[in-house]
Amino acid sequence: MEYGPSTEDATPVRRWLTDRGSFGHFIAGRFTRPETSFATRDPSTGDELAQVSQGSARDVAKAVRAARRAARGWGAMAGHDRARFLYAIARTIQKRERFLAVLETLDNGKPIRESRDIDIPLVVRHFYHHAGWAEIAATEFPDRAALGVCGQIIPWNFPLLMLAWKVAPALAAGNTVVLKPAEYTPLTALAFAEICSHVGLPAGVVNIVTGDGETGAALVKSPVDKIAFTGSTEVGREIARELAGSRKKLTLELGGKSPFVVMPDADLDAAVEGVVDSIWFNQGQVCCAGSRILVAEAVAERFETLLQRRMQKLRVGPPLDKSTDIGAIVDPIQKERILSILDAATGAGAELVGGEAQQGCFIAPGYLKNIAPANPGMRDEIFGPIATLSTFRTPDEAADLANNTKYGLSASIWSESATVATDLAARIKAGVVWVNCANIFDAAAPFGGMRDSGYGREGGREGMLDYLTPDTARAARDPAPA
Ligand code: NAD
Repeated sequence: MEYGPSTEDATPVRRWLTDRGSFGHFIAGRFTRPETSFATRDPSTGDELAQVSQGSARDVAKAVRAARRAARGWGAMAGHDRARFLYAIARTIQKRERFLAVLETLDNGKPIRESRDIDIPLVVRHFYHHAGWAEIAATEFPDRAALGVCGQIIPWNFPLLMLAWKVAPALAAGNTVVLKPAEYTPLTALAFAEICSHVGLPAGVVNIVTGDGETGAALVKSPVDKIAFTGSTEVGREIARELAGSRKKLTLELGGKSPFVVMPDADLDAAVEGVVDSIWFNQGQVCCAGSRILVAEAVAERFETLLQRRMQKLRVGPPLDKSTDIGAIVDPIQKERILSILDAATGAGAELVGGEAQQGCFIAPGYLKNIAPANPGMRDEIFGPIATLSTFRTPDEAADLANNTKYGLSASIWSESATVATDLAARIKAGVVWVNCANIFDAAAPFGGMRDSGYGREGGREGMLDYLTPDTARAARDPAPA
C-alpha cells in the first residue's frame, strides 16, 4: 500500500525506536538490560519496530517485590500528593499526544485518525479524572483501604487506553502496579514508563514487564493482591480457575457479541453512522463492538441499502494516512482467525457481503446476512470488521435475539422514541446500553460486563471501589501468599 501526501510524519517515533533499539522491563524506576527478546512489528508492513524482552517468572517476581516495597510509601502518601503525580502524567501524555498516537498506530495498525482523536485523548481524560479521585478518595471512602500490589494484564486492541483504565484508578486508590502489556503492542506501555520517570513517580509504583501469555500466567501466580485482566473469555476463565480459593481480588473484562438494535422508528442515516462507529471502528477489534445488527423487518431493506452505500465509501488503507478509515488487523495470526470464522459462517449457509481479505494484514469491512442463530458467525466473537445482519418483527423478538448470546457486555439501541428505547434497554442483559450512539466512553462512567463478558467495573466510582478493600487492616498485613 502506498503512502500519500496526507501521511502523518513518523520521523520522531522512528528516531526514538532507533535510539533505543531494544527494550528491557521497567522495574523499580529503571529499565532492565534486555535479555531474551522478541520482535514487535508494524502489522501494515510486517517491518520490525523493536526488540522487546520476554518476561520470565524471575522478572515478574522482581517487579512484584519492587511494587511491594513502594506500596507502603505510596499508600501512606496524602491523596493530594498522589494527585499531583496523576495530573503530571496526564499533562505529559497531552504534550506527547502526537508522538504517542503515531507510536500506537505503528505498533497496532489502527488508523492515525482514531489513535490521535479517540485513544490518546481518552487516555489523558482518564488520568485527569483519576487525579481528582486521588484527591477525594480518603474522604469519599473513609472505610476502605488500598489493596496493595495490583497485577494488570491488558490486550492489544487499545494498548495505551487499556493501560490508563488499569493504572489510573489503581494509583489513585493508593495501590502500586505490575502491568503486562500484550505481546503484539508493548511500545506505548514502554513510552509510558518513560513518562513515569519524567514526572518523578516514586520508583516501584509502576512496573512494566513485557512478554506473552507465559509472563501473564507468572504474574497471576505471583504474590499480588489483585489481578485485573482484560482479554479473551478463555484466558479469563483460566485465570479465574487459577485464583479460586486465593485471597487475591479479581476483575475480568472479557469478550462480547453485542447487539445493535434498529427499531422501526429509528433515524436510519444516524443508525448507519452508528454501525461505522460500532463495528468498523478499530477494524472491529473492539470488545463492545455492535457486532450483531438486528433491524426491524419493516425498515430492513432501506437500512441495508444505506448500509452498503456507506460501507463502500470506507477507505481501507495505510494506518498513518489521515484519510484511512480501516487500518491493519493487529497480526497475521488474528487475520487468519477472523478468516477462519468467516469460512465457517459461509460454510454453514451465511452470505458474506464485502469482507474481502486483502494482501497483508488487511480485511475490507463487511457483514454476514441470511445467517441462522446457531451459525458460528452469529455465536462467536469475530473480532474483525464484520457484523451480522438479521431482522425481527416485534420488540419482544428484538429483546430475545439481543439476549441470545453467552456474553453481556454492551448493547446499542436506535429509536426516535425514548420510551421504546428505554423499555428495550431494561430488557437487555448487558453491562452498558447506549441509545442512539455506540462506543461512547467516559472516565466517569463505569464500564464492564456480565455473564461470559466478565465482572468488575472500570471507570467512575464503581471502578475505584474495585481497587479498594473494606478490610482497612489489610494494608498493614503481610502480602497474600503466592
Ligand atoms: P488474550 O486473552 O489472548 O490476551 C490478553 C492478554 O492476556 C495479553 O496480554 C496476553 O499476553 C495475556 N495472556 C494470554 N494468556 C494468558 C494466561 N494464560 N495467563 C495470563 N495472561 C495471559 O486476548 P487478546 O487476543 O489479546 O484480546 C482480545 C480479547 O480481549 C477479545 O476477546 C476482546 O473482546 C477482549 N477485550 C475485552 C475488553 C473489555 O473491556 N471487556 C477490552 C478489550 C478486549
